[in-house]
Amino acid sequence: MKINSISRRNFNRKLSAGLGGAALAPQLSYASMFANKPEQNKKLGIALVGLGSYSTNQLAPALQETEHCYLAGIVTGTPAKAKTWTDKYNIPQKNIYNYETFDQIADNPDIDIVYVVLPNSMHAEYSIRAAEAGKHVICEKPMAISSEECRQMIDACNQANVKLSIGYRLHFEPHNQEVMRLGQQKVMGDITLIQCGAGYLMGDNWDQWRLDKKLAGTGALGNMGVYAIQAAIYTVGQNPTYVRAQEFKTKPKKFKEVDETVTFQFEFPTGTVANLHTSHNARTNRLYAACEKGWFELEPFSPYGGIKGSSSEGPISYPQVNQQALQMDDFANCIKNDKQTPVPGEMGMRDVQIIEAILESIDSGNKVMLKDLAY
Ligand code: NAD
Repeated sequence: MKINSISRRNFNRKLSAGLGGAALAPQLSYASMFANKPEQNKKLGIALVGLGSYSTNQLAPALQETEHCYLAGIVTGTPAKAKTWTDKYNIPQKNIYNYETFDQIADNPDIDIVYVVLPNSMHAEYSIRAAEAGKHVICEKPMAISSEECRQMIDACNQANVKLSIGYRLHFEPHNQEVMRLGQQKVMGDITLIQCGAGYLMGDNWDQWRLDKKLAGTGALGNMGVYAIQAAIYTVGQNPTYVRAQEFKTKPKKFKEVDETVTFQFEFPTGTVANLHTSHNARTNRLYAACEKGWFELEPFSPYGGIKGSSSEGPISYPQVNQQALQMDDFANCIKNDKQTPVPGEMGMRDVQIIEAILESIDSGNKVMLKDLAY
């Protein structure tokens, strides 16, 4: 099924007509649903917390394309960045915060959503403070550096009656949505085996927070491994029941504090086996599913663009979309319609629980049962 390049709006319309686009359907009907409800037409204001690479190169540009939310504010510890961003995106001075003034965001009606884009160990603190300020929260992956922190974040959002979602952008990407449909609806029969790898070759900069356990929690596992965990689960449509994992270090000095390469295997209740790996020392990005009556794969499956797929039935080909714009628009819609986000905090917590089980298996050498998962 080949679709030629079409606009995002037209593409969404086509998808909702039946090409595995269930998750995109709400965006489609949105404009017509609220045409007569002016209060619902208001774009929700997002404040980005942490103006590093992802905020600068992906989220802020994406917020120029969103229909239901916009870049309303920023939180940064660097005054020079505040000036650059103000000039570039026309952000009013009253919507600029630093880490000391952050809590005053509670008094700012322009900000509806706080998007936490900080090093992993800071996710919990700023998500909880955002919730206490009465703001809805998007938190980047991995949700936090422990499941205990994840629980506190969920509780804080529930107590404040605000919504919490995780930056799992691939749930809004059409090739990955098609893989969810093929796997979960058993279009080619039961999946017998999944193979998935997500990793990249980390550059020579040793002075970065991703190598620092205090800030990153884990190495490749939390950064790229979550994509493999996610992909295996959303392709099968079930949580695994057991995990077994192995760690390999070829550069022990560089990766002194955090993992470099991890391989891990899931067993699913249906009998499906997943063979997964992640690395900060290897370029790998592929998702493959062997089914009773065929196979399908995406390679690469997780970058911001250029995702390609094929199957025993033919190509899996959809237009490239702005994943971050769709993700943030969907969350804005969930807030306006009081709907559950497809990527809630509980899903982020489940993945952190699985990361903890992977670490336990590496330490013990044993297979670990996955129980009491949050999602
Ligand atoms: P980055 O290093 O480029 O930016 C981090 C930002 O945090 C910087 O602006 C830095 O100034 C700020 N910061 C505040 N306190 C800091 C401290 N004590 N130490 C270091 N930096 C501090 O990182 P990034 O790539 O933008 O990643 C940020 C978060 O976004 C991470 O959790 C990462 O996993 C996530 N991320 C998600 C995706 C995705 O596709 N969903 C992609 C990239 C990053």
